[in-house]
Amino acid sequence: MVGAGIVGASCAYAASRAGAQVVLTDAAIAGRATAAGAGIICPWSSHVDDAAWYGFACAAARRYPALAAELAGAGLGDGSYRQVGALIVAGDEDEAGRECERVLAMRAAEPEIGEVRVLSAGQARALFPPLRPGAPAAYIGGAARVDGRLITSALIEAARRRGARFLAGRAALTRRGGRVVGVEVDGQPVDGDVVVVAAGAWTEALLAPLGVTLVVRPQRGQIVHLSLAPADTSRWPVILPAGSGHYLLAFDDSRVVVGATRETGSGFDVRITAGGLHEVLARALAVAPGLAAGTVQDTRVGLRPAGPDVRPLLGPVRGVAGLVVATGLGASGLTTGPLAGALAAQVALGVTPDLDLAPFDPLRSRPSPVG
Ligand SMILES: Cc1cc2nc3c(=O)[nH]c(=O)nc-3n(C[C@H](O)[C@H](O)[C@H](O)COP(=O)(O)OP(=O)(O)OC[C@H]3O[C@@H](n4cnc5c(N)ncnc54)[C@H](O)[C@@H]3O)c2cc1C
Repeated sequence: MVGAGIVGASCAYAASRAGAQVVLTDAAIAGRATAAGAGIICPWSSHVDDAAWYGFACAAARRYPALAAELAGAGLGDGSYRQVGALIVAGDEDEAGRECERVLAMRAAEPEIGEVRVLSAGQARALFPPLRPGAPAAYIGGAARVDGRLITSALIEAARRRGARFLAGRAALTRRGGRVVGVEVDGQPVDGDVVVVAAGAWTEALLAPLGVTLVVRPQRGQIVHLSLAPADTSRWPVILPAGSGHYLLAFDDSRVVVGATRETGSGFDVRITAGGLHEVLARALAVAPGLAAGTVQDTRVGLRPAGPDVRPLLGPVRGVAGLVVATGLGASGLTTGPLAGALAAQVALGVTPDLDLAPFDPLRSRPSPVG
């Protein structure tokens, strides 16, 4: 497997559980998305209008509690996955009501959405004290958060315990005829029956020498971590201001994470910019002015792997035997990464995947490479 972000780590975990011999390699490239991701798991609030993506994201959210329990059962629980609920913060009660109706309409098909109701401005502030006064909200009980760094480390450790080997270094694909037969990691050859490429925003460059053209572009996201010590933030819900791509979420250590920019066309520039920080903090303080006295604890930047559309690029690569791609998860990869990795492992091991991957063909709408 190339790439040990949440997708590659999940793939290594699933494949090693299935008894495969796994080598996982990562170059620790600056800007890897998993290390910067916020960690909101709430596909039901999304306005994305794509049934294939929505079904995939819901399936991914559904299996998170079991995954967290599995890791905890193996003594690798990090406790960062928690269903804390989400508030879609609205301008007035009418808007909160409309958001509620929209989410409720999906609940019959997706019972994991859990409790859905309108909260008065006072009720919303009782759950998330820094919120501005006069902001009612739609509450979604099933929403959760997770620390992407912690769960990814746990997945890698769980894979290691089942015999997976981790190799630090930059991988290049090795090809013989029309088949990928392994990788070279900083010049060291590693043979394999199948290579899964989960290299995030760097996937396009990794495949280019094979003549495989797929579209994965980096979309920069800047995000800020604030400490509100000594406040107990462990049960604070995720805050999703209606009609905005920005958000707030809290972790156990008095930490509130506010984000994030979505900088399409950023290229591989991983600087944290004045404009980026200004945007993130201004949006956060507009919805939650009570955060103004928080201490800036960390600023992070990551490159979301953005495909040609919202759907993942997931499955075998037509015309190139021995190659599976798992990327393109964009803004929702901490939600969908564990499922994407598990499905990629199934494909690599020749098992029929639990989900139909036809809509996610990595080369969709593109000609097959000459193999
Ligand atoms: C600011 C921000 C906020 C986000 N918030 C959320 C959120 O709230 N909820 C959510 O669901 N998602 C969120 N996301 C999206 C999510 O973080 C990403 O979609 C996900 O982490 C992508 O994981 P990945 O494994 O595909 O890629 P990455 O995490 O980027 O991993 C790819 C790995 O491949 C390695 N690599 C690349 N090339 C090579 C090579 N040649 N050899 C060896 N290794 C290589 C890199 O070092 C890297 O570690 C957010 C993203 C950002 C940036």
